[in-house]
Amino acid sequence: MYSIKINQTRLSLVHGDITAQATDAIVNAANSSLIGGGGVDGAIHRAGGPAILEECRQIVAGQGRLPTGKAVITTGGRLKARHVIHTVGPVWRGGQKGEAELLADAYRESLKLAVVSGLKTVAFPSISTGAYGYPVEQAAEIAVKTVIDFLKQETGLDEVVFVLYGSSDYRVYEETIQRLHVP
Ligand code: ADP
Repeated sequence: MYSIKINQTRLSLVHGDITAQATDAIVNAANSSLIGGGGVDGAIHRAGGPAILEECRQIVAGQGRLPTGKAVITTGGRLKARHVIHTVGPVWRGGQKGEAELLADAYRESLKLAVVSGLKTVAFPSISTGAYGYPVEQAAEIAVKTVIDFLKQETGLDEVVFVLYGSSDYRVYEETIQRLHVP
């Protein structure tokens, strides 16, 4: 556990399972179909139960597939978190296909949705660095920079947490925060 303060918001790093977080929302690294997959998406649906998928289906029926870089919010079902914010990160295709901007969008859109929904605390996984193949050092740079820049505005958020599943990912995020955070 490592944490810094940006304006009124604590930015923390946790090593562990995002489905166990008791934040107001946890963010899901979903795919555009919102029907569930492997990785963190599968873990969230398993832990939260069918109410999450039911709401995801209604969203897709109403507005179609969720484009990369966008975010939607559902119930958290049986999770400790009352809500899940589903966002879609980019698939890594070598770095010249707009991946960096799309990954930044995924973090920004999720944070904006948390704020307009009146939430105070939100936890993120490392979006796109599993099945989607984004190199973790480059993804961490974008994740940390985008969140820090967002928190430099007045957001009303109390805490943003990055939950890293692997200890090497945790070290990469920690090193990135230490490098990018100039108090
Ligand atoms: P993507 O398709 O966006 O790459 P993945 O779910 O495949 O999403 O992987 C994203 C990251 O989430 C990976 O670093 C993976 O290790 C991590 N992850 C998988 N399960 C969990 C979990 N239960 N809690 C937090 N992070 C997880």
